[in-house]
Amino acid sequence: MTTVLPTVLPDALGDAAREFIAGTHDLLIGSERVQAADGRTFLTLDPASGREIATVPQGGAEDVARAVAAAREAFDGGPWASLAPSERGRLIGALADALEQRQEELAQIESLDNGKPVKLAQYVDVRGTVAHLRYFAGWPTKIEGSVLPVTAPNMLCYTRREPVGVCGQIVPWNFPLLMAAWKVAPALAAGCTIVLKPAEQTPLSALRLGELALEVGFPPGVLNVLTGDGETGAALVDHPDVDKISFTGSTVVGREIGAKAGRALKRVTLELGGKSPNVILPDADVEAAVAGSYQAIYFNSGQACNAGSRLFVPAERFDEVVGALAERAKATRLGAGLDPATQLGPLVSAEQHERVMSYIDAGRDQGAELLAGGGAALADSGGWFVEPTLFSSTSDDLRIVREEIFGPVLVASPYDTLEEVARRANDTDYGLAAGVWTRDVSSAHRLAAMLRAGSIYINHWGGSDPSAPFGGFKASGVGREHGHDGLDAYLETKTVWTSLG
Ligand code: NAP
Ligand code: MG
Repeated sequence: MTTVLPTVLPDALGDAAREFIAGTHDLLIGSERVQAADGRTFLTLDPASGREIATVPQGGAEDVARAVAAAREAFDGGPWASLAPSERGRLIGALADALEQRQEELAQIESLDNGKPVKLAQYVDVRGTVAHLRYFAGWPTKIEGSVLPVTAPNMLCYTRREPVGVCGQIVPWNFPLLMAAWKVAPALAAGCTIVLKPAEQTPLSALRLGELALEVGFPPGVLNVLTGDGETGAALVDHPDVDKISFTGSTVVGREIGAKAGRALKRVTLELGGKSPNVILPDADVEAAVAGSYQAIYFNSGQACNAGSRLFVPAERFDEVVGALAERAKATRLGAGLDPATQLGPLVSAEQHERVMSYIDAGRDQGAELLAGGGAALADSGGWFVEPTLFSSTSDDLRIVREEIFGPVLVASPYDTLEEVARRANDTDYGLAAGVWTRDVSSAHRLAAMLRAGSIYINHWGGSDPSAPFGGFKASGVGREHGHDGLDAYLETKTVWTSLG
């Protein structure tokens, strides 16, 4: 029987990525690879051409129930529950090794499915994933309770740190594998079991992650992967036997999940959107600030929750800074992620393209001045490209200044004083990140203390490490990922009291 490939995959794919993508894609539930119980499927598309890449099962409520049952079984009595912490760490390390050995394959899968430049996928997404797994591989042997100096006489009181249980993990499409790793790595380190739901736009790398976890020896049921859409995610959130939900995505869906988790008293971590201010102070190294501010917004085509999407520039340096930024934006090479010459890939989907273009229209309509970009690029390719776009505005009330766009659109505004810029930078519902460019240590740290955001970047943008907490103030989320805080989010504290008579 001849196999009919769903599409002509790009020549730039290596053999391993090609073989994986052209193969059959199944839900990973316990030890089984299965199609959806009701047989439904959906297509994942190449954002650079709009063409079909692969057919993927659409997990429904029945599949969610089976995956949660598999995760429960692995948590409660299976080999995972009795595994020594050192073995848990060894397995997480083995998964990191397996991904590292296949970093080119994984980067190509991610680049094709998401549209991002393949080198970015390799250095940021795949290597970041490996780094997170390695960091958390060290934790299982260091999760300690303590003996407490309680007042009651003849009483031994100690704490145990125990895994939260079955975790539903729902991730977005902007860094599909990396966002999964941010959740999977600490959950595994804590001893939890997982049902992972990747975004419908980018389901492939999560399936490869799940396969590799089984290959390196994770017991079945520890990491289940369900492809599907928002309904699949909602069924996971609603399932009564899920102990914790962790979610990265839009604030709208995050609010809904937070409300449901509150009613069910499930544990919850939410990493949501942002409208992050990036402040250049008058004494800044302008060249570095321009290069960093360009990266802050246009990296990953602006599809980053911590994108520096509002730029504040001292009035006296405004023309110089925005002129240099506009020049860089106009010189950017757009193209397919798998083309090594590409600096900026397409947006992930037609829907996202339409959304970003409608914000550009709103910017023009509401009177912002367009300094660069503003158009849909490479229209003949069939892909969802948007030119890197720069607006200037003196008003903070425009939609493009207040709402998260999640595309390559920057709004620059002039300011006069430090107090003014701190107030305007904080005048947002969000609080994920903020940046400061200055040579003055005192202003840098004064402003770092004044800005209401979970991460402050001084003289660079986007510092990230598995040991450094990341998460939002205000509508940007609840809880933190990475480091001790990230691990704690997957642990319960149990206090044990023993009367010594
Ligand atoms: P989204 O709807 O919040 O999607 C994020 C994840 O949640 C996906 O896996 C999605 O599944 C799932 N989901 C959707 N509805 C759900 C529900 N009711 N219950 C449980 N899970 C649900 O985000 P989007 O629609 O892809 O993007 C819209 C906007 O969100 C973007 O323009 C951007 O502003 C923001 N966003 C933020 C981040 C971030 O990193 N903070 C990431 C992505 C998007 P499906 O995708 O399969 O429907
Ligand atoms: Mg896709």
